Amino acid sequence: MKQTFETVGQSRQIERIVSGVETSDGAGVRLTRLMGQELQKRLDPFLMLDSFGSDNPDDYIAGFPDHPHRGFETITYMLAGRMRHRDSAGHEGLLESGGVQWMTAGRGVIHSEIPEQQDGLMEGFQLWLNLPSHKKMIPPWYRDIPGREIPAYVAPEGVAVRVIAGRSNGVSGAVSREDTEPLYLDIDLPGESAFHAILPATHNAFVCVYRGEIELGGKRLAEKRLAVLSNEGDGAILKAASPARAILVAGRPLNEPIVQYGPFVMNTREEIYQALSDFREGHLAG
Ligand code: MN
Repeated sequence: MKQTFETVGQSRQIERIVSGVETSDGAGVRLTRLMGQELQKRLDPFLMLDSFGSDNPDDYIAGFPDHPHRGFETITYMLAGRMRHRDSAGHEGLLESGGVQWMTAGRGVIHSEIPEQQDGLMEGFQLWLNLPSHKKMIPPWYRDIPGREIPAYVAPEGVAVRVIAGRSNGVSGAVSREDTEPLYLDIDLPGESAFHAILPATHNAFVCVYRGEIELGGKRLAEKRLAVLSNEGDGAILKAASPARAILVAGRPLNEPIVQYGPFVMNTREEIYQALSDFREGHLAG
């Protein structure tokens, strides 16, 4: 069957460019927090985006030993490297280059994320997606999606697209979620190319460039920068003069109160106190 491709009439614009904050998390893993608490309302339903990328083992080798989560989902996209995951629900998996680990913390998991390499490049993203209030306490869920199982297609002008979540040009992604309808695309643009992505006006969206640079709505977006997109327009047109790679993420906002305390994201302070007390007493998970 011949695939037809979407064309965006009026592209969304870049509303704001963010360069992120250098930080460390877990047992000293160096990373860039491109999106944190200050953008949670604007980019609802997304809570956080971390980018990691280093070929110096000191920056990642200790990984993320046992730590808890409650109330949301974590989506780890590994561009390079190997990471072993173990959690309190009995799940274990190896996340390898090109693969995605999708974990629903729900009412609670305690897990570890430990590099399974002594040297070489470790690169990727971790995105946090919120759960609606009525699903924050669902049982935890987990799926490892190897790179070869992530749906992919080639758009006009040789643009290679991997559909991690949602639906793009008729191609359904590896995961879908009905409440927030997240779209998560990895877009590989050759030089002198453009990619059109239709986006519902309701969806908040951002783009993060991790190779080269792109142009969006007449503005330049450099490597390692995140652009918050305006909600006007019927989609986004990403243009590249020379080869570039970017992720495009969009989702329908939940419009619910967000209360975050570290690895717990709930709707009220009382629910956070409950999570802390459950964790201390040993029944956050299981
Ligand atoms: Mn974690």
